[in-house]
Amino acid sequence: MSAPHALLIITAALSAMMLAIIWSLRRSDLPGVTDWCMANLIVTGALILFALRGVIPDFLSVVVANAALCLALCVFYAGTVRFCGGNPSWRLLAGVVVATTIGVVALRYGIDSFQGRVVVVSVPHASLCALVAWTLLRARSRGRPNSHAITTAMFALSFAVGHTTRGVLAACSLMGDSLTAEGINTAFLALGALVMPALSMGAVLMIHDSLVRRLEAIANTDALTGVMSRKAYEDEAQRELTRALRDGRAPALLIIDIDRFKNVNDTWGHAAGDTVLRAFAQLAAGEIRASDRLARLGGEEFVVLLPATSEAEARQVAERIRQRAEDSPVTAEFGTVRYTISGGVATWRPGESLARLSARADAALYQAKVSGRNRMVGESELPDGSRSTPEALAMA
Ligand code: GH3
Ligand code: MG
Ligand code: MG
Repeated sequence: MSAPHALLIITAALSAMMLAIIWSLRRSDLPGVTDWCMANLIVTGALILFALRGVIPDFLSVVVANAALCLALCVFYAGTVRFCGGNPSWRLLAGVVVATTIGVVALRYGIDSFQGRVVVVSVPHASLCALVAWTLLRARSRGRPNSHAITTAMFALSFAVGHTTRGVLAACSLMGDSLTAEGINTAFLALGALVMPALSMGAVLMIHDSLVRRLEAIANTDALTGVMSRKAYEDEAQRELTRALRDGRAPALLIIDIDRFKNVNDTWGHAAGDTVLRAFAQLAAGEIRASDRLARLGGEEFVVLLPATSEAEARQVAERIRQRAEDSPVTAEFGTVRYTISGGVATWRPGESLARLSARADAALYQAKVSGRNRMVGESELPDGSRSTPEALAMA
């Protein structure tokens, strides 16, 4: 078996493997993944047809194989456009495949010119590779960063340059017959055959990147209210305390608990309770600065982390949220629910842990509860030496 034949068989096997890998990622439901599967399926077939040159009719090993290779690249490009949130122009891509096929037929059954065929297929191949690179780079600059998009774009750009060089060299009639000539011809054959496995490798990396981001987003978001999850908040708060230690600008912490929330569930039902939680989260998010962080700690308890904020300033924000909650009954199919909230505010002391800061804000919250609810208490307002406990709360 000649080196070019072996190369074609190996890359066909590689494409089949990439197909299996991308196929296994179809459950991700990411746009473009099915197109990438199809592209690998088509290219596997195309490479087998190329490898059978001389064994099967030229119509299959030359015309159909070249048309399929061009189609595979078109489908890969379409998948890339979809993956990046766009809509490919299938009509234009079909036109590219038809034009390439007509060119190959003319240069096989009209004037039989290998160099001519290389020029004809190099143009769409180079263009499609360049388009894949451009699509990925443009999506990146549009704020849809994917850390592997740049790697894949670089693969695609290298192939675009390779195909252009091949086309130019063929146009200058520098090459011999593809499956018999040695050296540069085999190198270009390898280049053409490796395009899809290499781009597919990039696609797999990009799919993984998107899946990791999706999982991170799920872990960092509270499913019911859409605000930050407890885990994300704790990570963010730790980072803020580190920043505060460096800048010397202490953050404030506001812990909020909806009053008598059990009554809301008992009276209007759990679904109504959920609606109130969502409405409150939206209301609170609207009352804080962009730099503040709102999270749901669990149940009907929320927290707001206010970077570089004094207790007095945080108390103002807290009071604003409290007033808005009191003035904003939640109306839905279950009726109208009025609710109030209580909160505790504490400011960070240099070197203090997040747990300690939270405990002090919690103590202020307990004080708000024991002194009648529907109020916000700053830590400095706590009676000296007294610390409200959950037991005290239970008696309130
Ligand atoms: P307090 O004023 O002392 O805070 O009284 P409370 O009733 O708000 O506090 P308690 O801790 O007794 O009850 C909290 C209730 O919150 C009990 C629980 O069923 C409800 N709850 C916790 N998580 C959810 C949730 O995701 N959805 C709904 N609807 N209710 C929840
Ligand atoms: Mg409560
Ligand atoms: Mg509670």
